[in-house]
Amino acid sequence: MFGNKKSNQRRFAGVISGLGISLLAALLVACGSDDDSSTPAISEGKQVTFAVIATSDLHTNVLSYDYYKTVADPTLGLERTATLITKARSEYPNHVLLDNGDTIQGTVLSDYQATVAPIKCEDTLAQYKVMNYLKYDVGTIGNHEFNYGLPFLNQVTHNGNNCKGPNFPLVLANVYRVSDGKTLFPPYTILTREFDGVTVKIGVIGFTPPPIMQWDKKHLEGQVTVQGVKESAEQWVPQLRAEGVDVVIALVHGGLSNAAYTSTMENAAYYAAQVPGIDALIMGHSHSYFPDGKNYANMANVDNVKGTIFGKPAVMPGFWGNALGVIRLDLEYGKGAWQIKQSKAELRLTSSKDASGATVYVSPDPNIAPLVTQEHQDTIKYVNTPVGTSEFRITSFFSTTGDTAAMQLINAAQIDYVKTFVQNNLPQYSSLPILSAAAPFKMNFGGSGFTDIPAGGIAIKNIADLYLYPNTLQAVKISGETLKGWLEKSAQQFNTIDPAKADDQSLISSSFPSYNFDVIDGVTYQIDVTKPAGSRIVNLSYNSQPVLPTQEWIVVTNNYRASGGGGFPGLDGKSIIIESPDTNRDIIVSYVKKVGTLKRAKDGADRNWSFVPVAVAGKVTFESAYDAEAVARDEGITNVFKDSDKADKSVSFYRLQLAK
Ligand code: MN
Ligand code: MG
Repeated sequence: MFGNKKSNQRRFAGVISGLGISLLAALLVACGSDDDSSTPAISEGKQVTFAVIATSDLHTNVLSYDYYKTVADPTLGLERTATLITKARSEYPNHVLLDNGDTIQGTVLSDYQATVAPIKCEDTLAQYKVMNYLKYDVGTIGNHEFNYGLPFLNQVTHNGNNCKGPNFPLVLANVYRVSDGKTLFPPYTILTREFDGVTVKIGVIGFTPPPIMQWDKKHLEGQVTVQGVKESAEQWVPQLRAEGVDVVIALVHGGLSNAAYTSTMENAAYYAAQVPGIDALIMGHSHSYFPDGKNYANMANVDNVKGTIFGKPAVMPGFWGNALGVIRLDLEYGKGAWQIKQSKAELRLTSSKDASGATVYVSPDPNIAPLVTQEHQDTIKYVNTPVGTSEFRITSFFSTTGDTAAMQLINAAQIDYVKTFVQNNLPQYSSLPILSAAAPFKMNFGGSGFTDIPAGGIAIKNIADLYLYPNTLQAVKISGETLKGWLEKSAQQFNTIDPAKADDQSLISSSFPSYNFDVIDGVTYQIDVTKPAGSRIVNLSYNSQPVLPTQEWIVVTNNYRASGGGGFPGLDGKSIIIESPDTNRDIIVSYVKKVGTLKRAKDGADRNWSFVPVAVAGKVTFESAYDAEAVARDEGITNVFKDSDKADKSVSFYRLQLAK
């Protein structure tokens, strides 16, 4: 077909011109230092060792600080990874430092610099300031780099302009501009290094997950095209090798899966490792660890102790700066070329256990925090600034004893997001009802307190108090039968109440965590706590009609639940239809910004679930926030009553009037 031929020609032209750019880059790098004719001959048998040191998925965790909670958090932060980098460099004087992407998005600091007070052309992102200080050699582009759109990405990476940015090249082989068919970033770069008096040329190539076209469709459609990771590697690696490099390192912003390969495969490192000419891999995106002897066990051709995939060394260095990958490569010169004689892939964590079993963290590099003082302070100020207003107090106090505004807000935000997503991306599902599940994360487990957002301005840190975990939004397509099973599992939150018993009975099961008590909005239902677990959900209805076992539903939840977290029946990852790159928390923030002012009647009075009324001889008791009966009344929950206060005023004891 004519149209196809035309686009093939365009692709071909893109390849040629892309090659031109990379040849030029290679010549510039090579200029004056390693022209073949002037390089002194390397003797046969000469050995040289160097280390590839790498981070991945830093997500702008520059400092060890949680902006959502406005507290220090030693579990994260490049300021601590930096200490591991310094140590690895002292062990391996010959080294290169690489970053595997998902670098400029992920904390409130990055949101602040991208959307709240957009960074100017003449300024460098806090993240890159610190990476420049650490003298990174090369980075690649993860999926999250696209979250703020291409103009922003191009500005902060000085891609095609003279703005400030990283003092090191960024490479990406599998994304092409529609306008001219060229790769958006150079597909690869060549580092020419003098190690122990000899020249070693290291090729570094990068790949991003192809589903960026779905996740950031609004930014990317019509602007760029994406190529499968394997196809891209097969196209570009031979050209990189043809430029006379000694070693090729692949920065694969993707995880490790041996599922059948497709050109849209998200976690394609298993297949990239099989492409001839790639010598070592940095993996990421899955926010996991490799090699650690635990993850990716029993996968054919993967050694999760030695850290090899099809015999090639590979690391996945955690996320948010909590780990560093170190690949040692021992080269030997023979038959006119450097050969990799031996390699060792290692994962180094910023945390460890001391002799007493307590967790200890490496110290931060003291030079880093002063580089970003202003950005850090500005971000904290922003986190405390309202993004919207609520006319009522939002709490988790009674979220397991009645339907509360807290759960309604999470679900309303999730449904709003998925409605738009389905319209734009999944029109084949547009006739399915969209339901949403939310659980109260903060129910004072181990004295951890409750969600408590006062009426008035809602700041970002308040939304983090509501949605404690940094999960990402996912949605599943399930049957009515699975929907009922989901609610039955949630209803295991409750002990079985014996109506005839005259003694006090405790309502809440102490062995069932509240984060598994999913309240599902969009349907109505009742819970009969006098029935045994598994047969407690009654009157499950949608638009006043009973939910049929065979009806299909979209249910919005998070990555934890959708992929099997909590062991809910029928939720094993296979029913996932949407895997958003956005956190549920960010989606709630956006929703509050959009709504502006939350009003009780519209935003906090759903009451779509309740207990089946039963007369109970004795008291049904539970514990909640101190002296908060009035909060239940404000929620429209009329059947809980305070019995007494704990002497230390930490909590009060309540009873549920099940007959009401
Ligand atoms: Mn990531
Ligand atoms: Mg509700």
